[in-house]
Amino acid sequence: MSCDISADVFACYFPFLNRSASYLAKRGYVLESVLDDRDMVEKAIERVRRAVARESFNAKSCLDRPEEGAVVARLALYLAAATGSSHILRRFADYESKNFASLLDKIPGVQSPGCKIEIGKDLGIYAKPSQEVMSGIAVVQFPIAVRWSTYLKYAPQDPHWAMINRVVVRGWVLLPMADYHRLLEEAYEERILKTVDENELAVGKVAMKVDMSKLEDLVKKYSYKPLPQAPVAGGPDPPCMKAILDALKAGENLPHTARFAITTYLLKRGWDVEQIVDLFRNAPDFNEKITRYQVQHIAGKVGGRKEYAVPSCETMNSWGLCPTNLGCNVRNPLQYGKRVAVKKSS
Ligand code: SF4
Repeated sequence: MSCDISADVFACYFPFLNRSASYLAKRGYVLESVLDDRDMVEKAIERVRRAVARESFNAKSCLDRPEEGAVVARLALYLAAATGSSHILRRFADYESKNFASLLDKIPGVQSPGCKIEIGKDLGIYAKPSQEVMSGIAVVQFPIAVRWSTYLKYAPQDPHWAMINRVVVRGWVLLPMADYHRLLEEAYEERILKTVDENELAVGKVAMKVDMSKLEDLVKKYSYKPLPQAPVAGGPDPPCMKAILDALKAGENLPHTARFAITTYLLKRGWDVEQIVDLFRNAPDFNEKITRYQVQHIAGKVGGRKEYAVPSCETMNSWGLCPTNLGCNVRNPLQYGKRVAVKKSS
């Protein structure tokens, strides 16, 4: 492998890669014996707590006891799933994937493009150095080329990531390193959630064997909070906004565009800033301070003091946020409720 780092330390930094799982299996770690180790279980509980509370990860711990760190991380994932709260699990996955992306920048042994391409391969991202696709000075700015099909699979739903805004050469999307890290982060988060789906039995064993009451307070604090009630005047919500609200209820990680759209919409429907901040509490990456500033910014109360308009249906569709493919006969989601109300009364 092109990564200049030992297998045990690598597994500790990136515990949810296939390579790390294989390494631990080869070293003889099995769930049953790990569950018998009280110390490991306590550390895994602590790891869930720290992840869900977004406390910083101590990367140095991976140099002291790397194998233990890797095992504890994988056990922590099963514990997060065993709480039965999809919000806790998603919050855990979000934290771990962000941590993963920040380590890509910090750990000297993984800095080479070759190592990062191998990490991508582990996650199902087909990439190669840009100089194999094109020549010239642009390869410095865009060192990684990603096959378009895997690019589309993991690119966030945001205009910045639309293929039209990218340099594409013979089916390869050329990326700056920071954007490649973001793709890896998305793929890593998906890997974490998939690991749970593929190991239901293991999650069940953890739920049976570990005293889950130790995580009860965490579940209470971070699980689903009923969404504040929207004022009913103005008619029903359009399918696009309803889909965003449903995704928030399910604790899904929404793209920036969806967060922006729902915020502008709810402000126009009469919600105040605090109600909207509360709405986002279910998001896996919720940060109260940042969310409040962003909502205030969109409401025109801070920053440039410009209140943003609700995106048009055309824009919503171009962002991939219109489930009816412009089928509501309105130009803006705000018009939907009034139109339905008029139809009903006629
Ligand atoms: S047509 Fe407009 S209102 Fe209807 S779902 Fe699409 S974006 Fe929303």
